[in-house]
Amino acid sequence: MPELPEVEVVRRGLERWTTGRTVASAEVLHPRSVRRHAEGPADFTGRLAKRTMLAPRRRGKYLWIPLRDEQDEAPGEAVLAHLGMSGQLLVGEPDREREKHLRVRVEFDDGGLDLRFVDQRTFGHLMVADLVPDAFDGRALVPGPIAHIAADPLEDAFDAEAFYRALRRRKTGIKRALLDQSLISGVGNIYADEALWRAKLHWARPTETMSRADAARVLEAAREVMAAALAVGGTSFDSLYVNVDGESGYFERSLDAYGRRDEPCRRCGSPIRRDEFMNRSSYSCPVCQPRPRRARY
Ligand SMILES: [Zn+2]
Repeated sequence: MPELPEVEVVRRGLERWTTGRTVASAEVLHPRSVRRHAEGPADFTGRLAKRTMLAPRRRGKYLWIPLRDEQDEAPGEAVLAHLGMSGQLLVGEPDREREKHLRVRVEFDDGGLDLRFVDQRTFGHLMVADLVPDAFDGRALVPGPIAHIAADPLEDAFDAEAFYRALRRRKTGIKRALLDQSLISGVGNIYADEALWRAKLHWARPTETMSRADAARVLEAAREVMAAALAVGGTSFDSLYVNVDGESGYFERSLDAYGRRDEPCRRCGSPIRRDEFMNRSSYSCPVCQPRPRRARY
C-alpha cells in the first residue's frame, strides 16, 4: 500500500509534469474509480474539461490538484485522489499502449504527456471536490471530503503543541493515537512502529502519561523515518515518467522494527517482539521499548 512518502513522490512528479496544463478531455474506464464522485462519471469528466491544473498538494495519503477555470478565477474545486492499495498516477506519451488496469485517462490541450490512473484492485479513487477553508492552516484551502483530517507531520500547518495537548486529553495508547487521522494523518502501521522504535516508546504507552518531550520525540522520529523513505524514493520521479508502482514500487526501506520479529534490535541486540494489535501487528524492542506498567491498547 502506498504510504505518505510514496504519495509525496507522486505529488512532486505531478507538480513537475501537470502544473499549468489545461485539460482537453478526460475518460473514465471503470466507474468504481470515481465512485466517491456522487454525480457520476460524466459529471466528473465534465468538470475536468477545459480547466487548468495548478500545483498539487498533499495531506497524509491524500493528494489534490486545484483546478482553475478559463476565466482565470481562483480555484474553487480540486481533483482529489487516494491511491488505495494499488493505485498509480502515471504521466507518459499519450499514444503508448493502454495499461491493463487503466481506470481514468486525462488528455491535455497541448497534446503532450497524458495523465493516467491505473489501479488493479480499485480501492483507490478520484473525485472532483469543492475546496473549503483549512481548519489546520488558516491561509489554505482543502477539499471538503478531507477537511476533518488532521495535518500530517511533514506539513508546515502541523501544530505540535496542539498534538501534545490532544494526546494528554485522549487517554489512549500512543500507537492508536498515531493511527488516528483526526489527531495526525499519514502515519500508517509501518511508520508508527518505526517512529516508536526510534523514540524508544512502547506502543501501548498511555498518552495521558506522555510529556511534551515524549510527544516531540515521537513526532521527530516520524518525520525522520518519512524523510529517509523520501530520500530513497527521490530518484523515481527524476525521469520522464511519474511511475510510482503501488505494489512493487513501495520504497526499499531499511526497517528497524516493522516485520523484524526475532531479529536483533539494531540498538541493543535483543530479539524484536511482535504483538497482536487491532488485527494487525506491532513490532518493538522489549528492552528499548519496555511495556508500561499501565498499558492502554
Ligand atoms: Zn533494543
